[in-house]
Amino acid sequence: MALLEVDGLSKHFVVNGGVVPRLLGTRKELQAIRNVSFEIEAGQTLGLVGESGAGKSTVGNVITRIYEPTNGTVRYNGANVHELSGSDLQAYRQSVQMVFQDPYTSLDPRYKIGRTIAEPLKIHTDLSKAERKERVSELLETVNLEPEHRDRYPHELSGGQLQRVSIATALALDPEFIILDEPVSALDVSVQARILNLLMELQEEYELSYLFISHNLGVIKHLCDHVAVMYLGEIVEQAPTGELFENPHHPYTEGLLNSVPQPQPGGSKSTDGLTGEIPSALNPPAGCSFHPRCSYATDQCSVDAPPLETLDSERKVACHHWDAVVADQADERSELT
Ligand code: SF4
Ligand code: MG
Repeated sequence: MALLEVDGLSKHFVVNGGVVPRLLGTRKELQAIRNVSFEIEAGQTLGLVGESGAGKSTVGNVITRIYEPTNGTVRYNGANVHELSGSDLQAYRQSVQMVFQDPYTSLDPRYKIGRTIAEPLKIHTDLSKAERKERVSELLETVNLEPEHRDRYPHELSGGQLQRVSIATALALDPEFIILDEPVSALDVSVQARILNLLMELQEEYELSYLFISHNLGVIKHLCDHVAVMYLGEIVEQAPTGELFENPHHPYTEGLLNSVPQPQPGGSKSTDGLTGEIPSALNPPAGCSFHPRCSYATDQCSVDAPPLETLDSERKVACHHWDAVVADQADERSELT
């Protein structure tokens, strides 16, 4: 049994027309996530990747019970998360933690770092004040900060240090599973690698499982065992990380990969990355929702939505023409050799 099992998850929001003139006074359904399924084994990391607006954070927010699902289930150690109550719910809230993108806004500027890290200990444990202080020092050390950082305010720390504080806070209650929602996107590139290394070390040491949400495939490459690619609320491809990078089957995955800046000297953003913008989830295109941006699209694509097909036990793809994508890459490879 996997640690986390997400099955057929959908979340729809009813929104008022609001400031959009042509929608004024109307109520529309926003399908933030549609029929999303995946599993995460204990000790493993799943990368959830896609452009902003794909519904990635909504998946995290349903798992942590910020939202109820419209359809589908989330199971954790076999138990339906949205049916938990009492001490089971309390245990779940301790076991599952989140780290957010922006450490500047997720930490309270009025509190010293030590108080922020001690807060979950105060709420969920019966540690004495002295024991909490001790535990805070331990946690700071775990994320490679000096115990003296306890007495600093957020504005006295760098972005990377603040993100270490967020991670220390998430670790305070000995969680098993952490949702990392764009945890390095607000940081300088030079700092990103250090935080990613820290996350890998912590995973190893504490046998943590991660759901790693990112718009950048480059960031998750070394951290994830599997990757699920989301587009407009749906998973369009899922595979072990190496296979996804070497041999993407979905045109959107291919586009994302071609948009990753190349690290070697002289490398630049490829021109065959993605063009156009992700459409509004209020008005998803008919058929395959990627068709307006897809260079492989045929007439069929604007009418029939492709189902998420299981190609082998580890690869899933939702595209009528994935074989053409694969054949194209084989051609490109043979041209290079
Ligand atoms: Fe492109 Fe058609 Fe595949 Fe959608 S189903 S990704 S439009 S080829
Ligand atoms: Mg997000």
